[in-house]
Amino acid sequence: MEGKRVLVVEDEPDIGQLLIMHLKDRGIDCQHFQDGRQALIELRRSHWDLVILDLRLNGVDGLEICRTLRQEGNALPVLMLTAKSSELDRVLGLEIGADDYVTKPFSVVEVMARVHALLRRVDLDRQKSNGCVALRVGNIWIDEARRRVEVHSKAIELTPKEFDLLLCFVCAPGQVFRRVQLLDQVWGFGYEGYEHTVNSHINRLRTKLAQADDSVEYVITVWGVGYKFNDNLSLEHVA
Ligand code: CA
Repeated sequence: MEGKRVLVVEDEPDIGQLLIMHLKDRGIDCQHFQDGRQALIELRRSHWDLVILDLRLNGVDGLEICRTLRQEGNALPVLMLTAKSSELDRVLGLEIGADDYVTKPFSVVEVMARVHALLRRVDLDRQKSNGCVALRVGNIWIDEARRRVEVHSKAIELTPKEFDLLLCFVCAPGQVFRRVQLLDQVWGFGYEGYEHTVNSHINRLRTKLAQADDSVEYVITVWGVGYKFNDNLSLEHVA
């Protein structure tokens, strides 16, 4: 779990601090927000591996945050904290896209076990998708290991960043990526403020794809948010 980033959103300071203490013990990079609105801003702003989300918060509550993230195509793992008294809360939480829940009062050991399981699952999914030999989407064929791209069976030359951007999109069709998310994923952390870099790379990637195949718009602008890959195309893993 070391090096992972976990955001804790909990309006009860004692519970928040307790979780932070135990996460830090396990080498996790974490932050605590008491306010739902601020937490949502932070979750949109930078990359997190998991959010521990209290369901009942003042202002924007946990349900609203989770619903908003999912509507925006953000697949960030969500571990919901719910009150024991309410079965409905749990059901609602999972229905709107939480990945797991723990009921209050909880044991910290239990929460840490769930955190570990969720983070591990994300890693396994990533390894699985990295294990395939080639990807086909629309008229694009991608050999990930050789970093080779063909459109209509003709090779096109992409820069390493253009390739990484394409891969990032292709592996999550329909997911809306904010510019800062793409910076984190493709350039790494610490590039905040370089959002225009993303725009220019995406423009070049689009131009190259369009020159090879103008029948499909592959990378779609989501106004006011960012970009997504055309989700009308089905992704095929070619072994
Ligand atoms: Ca609460």
